[in-house]
Amino acid sequence: MQVPLTNWPQGNIELRRHLASLSPITVMTRPELKNFRRIVVKVGSSLLIDAAAGAVKEAWLEALAADLARLHAEGRDVLVVSSGSIALGRSKLKLPRGPLKLEESQGAAAVGQIALARLWSKVLAAHGIDAGQILVTLQDTEERRRYLNARSTIAKLLEWRAIPVINENDTVATNEIRYGDNDRLAARVATMASADLLVLLSDIDGLYDAPPGANPNAKLIPVVDSVSAEIEGMAGAAESELSRGGMTTKIEAAKIATTAGTHMLIASGKIAHPLQAIADGGRCTWFLTPANPVTARKRWIAGSLEPKGTLIIDAGAVTALRGGASLLPAGVIRVEGHFARGDAVVVRGPDTHEIGRGLVAYDAENADRIKGHSSSDAARILGVDGRAEMIHRDDLVVGAGPA
Ligand code: GLU
Repeated sequence: MQVPLTNWPQGNIELRRHLASLSPITVMTRPELKNFRRIVVKVGSSLLIDAAAGAVKEAWLEALAADLARLHAEGRDVLVVSSGSIALGRSKLKLPRGPLKLEESQGAAAVGQIALARLWSKVLAAHGIDAGQILVTLQDTEERRRYLNARSTIAKLLEWRAIPVINENDTVATNEIRYGDNDRLAARVATMASADLLVLLSDIDGLYDAPPGANPNAKLIPVVDSVSAEIEGMAGAAESELSRGGMTTKIEAAKIATTAGTHMLIASGKIAHPLQAIADGGRCTWFLTPANPVTARKRWIAGSLEPKGTLIIDAGAVTALRGGASLLPAGVIRVEGHFARGDAVVVRGPDTHEIGRGLVAYDAENADRIKGHSSSDAARILGVDGRAEMIHRDDLVVGAGPA
C-alpha cells in the first residue's frame, strides 16, 4: 500500500519535500514517529501496575519517561493519558480481589490518582519537565463550552512545555456518565488537542487478522488505511486475547481519531522504551487518517454546528480574518443572538455578507460588553483575564457556509 503524500502530517516539511522527490515506488508504507508534531501516548493500567505484587513498575515507567522526554526535547508536544488510578488505589488500600462497587472504585481512584500524579510528576521531573494533571469527565469532551475550556488548558500547558497527564475523573464518574476505558478517552483528548498522532501502548503489539494466541498463523496488520467492517470483525475475534479495554475499544478509538484527522497506532507497551522501539521501526499497527486535525476540526465547525448568533465585524477585521488571523474583540461592531461560550456563531462583514463561522470564546453578553475594545481593555471590562481572541483562528472557518 502506498500512502499518498497528501496524507502525511504537516509537521515535517523537509521530509515531505524529500518524499516528493522520491519515485512513488520507494515511498514508505508506514509513517515514522519523527513526522509528528503533537503526540498523545496512552498508557494502560496493566503496563503501569504489577497487580500480583500490588506495586508500580517504576523502572518501566522511568524508561517510558525517558522516551517521552526525548520526543519533547525534539520540540514535539507530548501528552499522556494515563490509567491506573483505580488499580493503584486498590493496591494501596489493600482491597480484596473481585469487582468493586461504584463508591469503592470512586474511593480507590481518589487514593490512586494522587499517587499516580506524584509518580508522573517525579519521573518527568527527572528530565526537567513539569507534569500537569488534567482530570476529565465525559461532559468535558462532549459539551462544547467545557470542551473549549479543557482545550485551552491543554494548549496553555503545551505552550509552557509541560506534559499534560490526563485521566478520567473516576472519583466523580458514575457508570452512566463515564468513558470507562481510556482508549476512547485518549482518542477524544487527541482530537481535542488537535494532535496528529495517538499512540495506544497495549499488552499486545497490534491488530491481528485472527486471535494470535489461538491461531499460530495469525498475522499482524502493519497498516490499516480505513477502519472497515472487516477490520472491526478482526477486533471482535481478537477480543478474547485481551484484558479490559480490549481491541474493540481500541478500534473505536481508531475511528474517533482517524475521523478527526489524527493517525493512531497500537504497539506493545510490555517492553522497556516502547516509544523508542516504534521509532526504530518495531512491530505495531498504524491506523492512517486521510485528513489533518485542523482541516477535520474546521469541517466539523463548518458543517455540523447550528449557529446560535452573529458577530458583525469591521472591514479591517475582514481583511485580517481572510489573512488567517484570529478575530479580536476590537474588530467586532455588533453582537446578535443568544449564545454561550463555545457556541458556533456566524461572522459577517460590515455589509452583513457572511465571512465565516467559528466557536466563540465569550457568551453573547460579554461579547457585547467588550466589542470594539482592545484585548487588554476587554480584560479590564470583564474583570478577568479571559481569552485575548473573540474567536481563535483554529476555531474559525473563513469562507464557510452559504454566502
Ligand atoms: N480511568 C481508569 C483508571 O485510571 C482506567 C480506565 C482504563 O483502564 O481504560 O483506573
